[in-house]
Amino acid sequence: MPQSTLPTQNKQLKQVRLAKLGGIFLEYKAASVLADVYAVTRGLNTMAIAQPPLPYDFNALEPYGMKAETFEYHYGKHHKAYVDNLNKLIADTEMADHSLEDIIKASFKDQAKAGIFNNSAQVWNHSFFWNCLKPAGGGTPSGDLAAKIDSAFGSFDKFKEEFSNAATTQFGSGWAWLIDDAGALKVTKTPNAENPVAHGQKALLTLDVWEHAYYIDFRNARPAFIKNFLDQLVNWEFVEQNLAAA
Ligand code: ZN
Repeated sequence: MPQSTLPTQNKQLKQVRLAKLGGIFLEYKAASVLADVYAVTRGLNTMAIAQPPLPYDFNALEPYGMKAETFEYHYGKHHKAYVDNLNKLIADTEMADHSLEDIIKASFKDQAKAGIFNNSAQVWNHSFFWNCLKPAGGGTPSGDLAAKIDSAFGSFDKFKEEFSNAATTQFGSGWAWLIDDAGALKVTKTPNAENPVAHGQKALLTLDVWEHAYYIDFRNARPAFIKNFLDQLVNWEFVEQNLAAA
């Protein structure tokens, strides 16, 4: 065959290969939008635990005190690293098929599984935390939740005070929580990756107080980050849904 036809043939072959790769990529994207990466990736025998999509755009909270850069690092690097680490740690173990919650409970306080606990709990905590935020959030809760907060803490302002205090005084890295503990609403704080799932409690709301959560937007000013969260970001509808499901 004349040599002059070769480049054309190669180009056509490359186009076919790219189209095939594109097909796989598009199928993967569609699956991830449907939060069905779990089934797809398990089918490909790669990852067991998926990172859920962020429930808003990276820049959605910029008018409310959190830059897109925060999400590029916090969601795109920190949260993703916990997911990647966890999948490496559970690959080819009996935990590879377990739910995230079961992995957290089974590894809690097991020194031999400390890495699995830290990474699995941090995957859960961050996936939950993203849903606790929304553009133009904050304000006050309503309905059953508002009544239960008043009854547990005396008033919504007292709740805010207690939650802020827990978030401020968690020494070093950790989390502040509003939980439903067997029907009673409580504010708690946990160190590092520890969370209500490990303690058999129902999480309603959380705030990440690891320095990586606020350094880009607030530098070292954790109290300003906490105030901004309560004033402008809390997704009370998500908290109400959690309470209804408790
Ligand atoms: Zn974090």
